Amino acid sequence: MIVVLKHGINQGNKDSIRSFLESKGFTVREIIGEHDTVFGAVGNLVIDHREVEVLDGVSRVIPISKPYKLASRELKKEDTIVKVGNVRIGGNRVAVIAGPCAVESREQMFQAAKAVRESGAVMLRGGAFKPRTSPYSFQGMGEEGLKILKDAGETYSLPVVTEIVGTDYTDMMRDYVDVFQIGARNMQNFELLKSVGRTGKPVLLKRGLSATIEEWLMAAEYLMAHGTDDVILCERGIRTFETYTRNTLDLSAIPVVKKLSHLPVIVDPSHATGIRAKVPPMALAAVAAGADGIVVEVHPHPEKALSDGPQSLYPEGFESLMRDIQALSPVVGKEIERLPEDQPPEVRAINLSQDKSNRRIAFQGVHGAYSEKAIYSYFGEDVSSLPAPSFRDVFEKVLTGEAEYGVVPVENSLAGTIYENIDLLLRYPDIWITGEYRLRIKHNLIGLPGSRIEDIKEVYSHPQGLMQCSDFLEKHKKIKGVPFYDTAGAVKFIAEEKDSSKAAIAGVEAAKVHGMRILKEGLETNSRNYTKFYVLARTENAVFPNFNRAAVVFSTPDKPGALLKCLNVLADKKINMNKLESRPIPGKPWQYMFFLSLDIPVQSLFDEAVEDLKEYADDIRVLGKYRFEKG
Ligand code: PEP
Ligand code: MN
Repeated sequence: MIVVLKHGINQGNKDSIRSFLESKGFTVREIIGEHDTVFGAVGNLVIDHREVEVLDGVSRVIPISKPYKLASRELKKEDTIVKVGNVRIGGNRVAVIAGPCAVESREQMFQAAKAVRESGAVMLRGGAFKPRTSPYSFQGMGEEGLKILKDAGETYSLPVVTEIVGTDYTDMMRDYVDVFQIGARNMQNFELLKSVGRTGKPVLLKRGLSATIEEWLMAAEYLMAHGTDDVILCERGIRTFETYTRNTLDLSAIPVVKKLSHLPVIVDPSHATGIRAKVPPMALAAVAAGADGIVVEVHPHPEKALSDGPQSLYPEGFESLMRDIQALSPVVGKEIERLPEDQPPEVRAINLSQDKSNRRIAFQGVHGAYSEKAIYSYFGEDVSSLPAPSFRDVFEKVLTGEAEYGVVPVENSLAGTIYENIDLLLRYPDIWITGEYRLRIKHNLIGLPGSRIEDIKEVYSHPQGLMQCSDFLEKHKKIKGVPFYDTAGAVKFIAEEKDSSKAAIAGVEAAKVHGMRILKEGLETNSRNYTKFYVLARTENAVFPNFNRAAVVFSTPDKPGALLKCLNVLADKKINMNKLESRPIPGKPWQYMFFLSLDIPVQSLFDEAVEDLKEYADDIRVLGKYRFEKG
């Protein structure tokens, strides 16, 4: 059962509720959610719920209807994010685990680790104990293999995952592995599940060859009931009558499990298909279907592999797959997970900061805003988002140190530039652009829980939101667009108004925050709708090693060819201009500043260009230098 605790419950009451449940024989887990804190009480016991409901500090008791309890979404609404060192699996990211089927030698493992790390994998796989169909096939290197795997992982800062095949190995393997893998053949080896669960370590749990989803989740329950909270489910194909592929990849398991469980789900396209050429398309399909990651076999020389060579990718094939995953992830509202070393410096600094109170990022709007989603996608869910009423307030919060960074939209691919933020950048010389992020914007028509699209007469949203949905508004003439100061704020407004003829246009997050209903999805005129955000920092927080992009502003004398001369300077230094805006100079009617966003292939040439520009331009200022990974 789920025991929902009252808000602001004191520790004494909490302790006595826990002792009461434990005295009745329940195992108790505390789960701190976004809205509520609950105790999950599990055990094979019958108790009258009213006995718990009357305890001080209990808000209500909800029975869990599913046979799996700790793994169930009923118990925990929020997605579980499994942390393995600095790697996160779950939430809004796609984590890629890669490596050979088996550890074969030091040289092979180090080559594989280097290759997958360079292409962006965040965890290393490699079996030291191989459960092979034939007793005559290569059985793995055993403990020697574990040593090699661990060394390779440490050398390339990749946590490692490897399969355990029997309870005898639990203690020996514990210190070598970051994540235990339970293979498909052992999914229902309950003694093994108990033994591995007791280590409390993260576990990658493969789906059995002919296991139903419920049996799979019950296996996860075994692990959790014995002590680990960190289970990563892995769909790896099931047995069907089809023999062309090694197994049949059940992609529909992903959305099914996502609904039933809070645990992250990843996909193994290698064992699912057994054929190298089929691995990349199935990996991409998994990401499109909502998988939290993939685990894929990569071998430096697949033709020489001691096991699963025909399904192992060559390093080049893996690199190409990684590029595709990187491009696809934002389309489904996700980001590829990166190791801290590969994150933008400000993200790395925030994530590695021990002090959580130093992780405040300001945005304009209320909770559920697109800017807030951009914050979580860029920095990760561990930061605290700080709402600000206006864009100017975001700049102020960054300037005064109330926030470490700020995130503001600067351009939308359908509606164009958000001039206010460009102008604020010009007005705040101590604020720098330290990063850039592009978020896919999917607008929704959001109404009260009981309302229907036919009832809607007015729709509230930010003017940009209304503009991006112009075709929808054109088609539904009886719905009047009403400009509002922000999209998520519009959802809050209609929630308060409680008038079923009013709706808002905003993101799903805003509907969730305010308990509203999505009446229609994907309202934007063109589905390729992206907003570009700048990450803002105070000068001392702006670090720019490896920058490949910069923003500058300058004015030119009012004479023929003045701007052309400046642009020639950039062209001479191989600098590509990806944006040019002119903005009026306050107090100087009909005079303009030029704002430029630039691609910098060679860093030293940028500094030279800035020097050279001084000859032709006035008031030149660099607004930011940062690294931008093109998807
Ligand atoms: C493996 O990952 O190497 C493996 C043996 O997988 P499965 O258990 O899914 O067959
Ligand atoms: Mn294999």
